[in-house]
Amino acid sequence: MDKPVFSIGERVEKLCVVCNEVRGHVVVSITKRGQISRVSCPKCGARTSFKSGATTDAAAKRSTTKAGAPYDRTRTYRTGQAMMHPTFGLGEVTKVIEPCKIDVLFSDRMRRLIHARQPE
Ligand SMILES: [Zn+2]
Repeated sequence: MDKPVFSIGERVEKLCVVCNEVRGHVVVSITKRGQISRVSCPKCGARTSFKSGATTDAAAKRSTTKAGAPYDRTRTYRTGQAMMHPTFGLGEVTKVIEPCKIDVLFSDRMRRLIHARQPE
């Protein structure tokens, strides 16, 4: 059976021991064989090692995701806000990079979006 191969920046569900909750983590390093070795928690920033098979039952039953309002590039987002993107689906703002750029964690990976854009 083939193991799934991952790449850096992808999202995995994992229990964060610091936050003590299951949430999407971002893959920060992988082995030569494409297996996850370290992940980062977007909420507290903790980097932890990832053991395959360590995704617990708790991770399987995902916590009910809070519904997000549709993504609007003219809106100003804050860390922790949820949004519904027309292409990527539900995402959560993990960091405001620049006044007009945000990192958003979607169900598959992290993406950088623009926000607070002046309407034309
Ligand atoms: Zn955490």
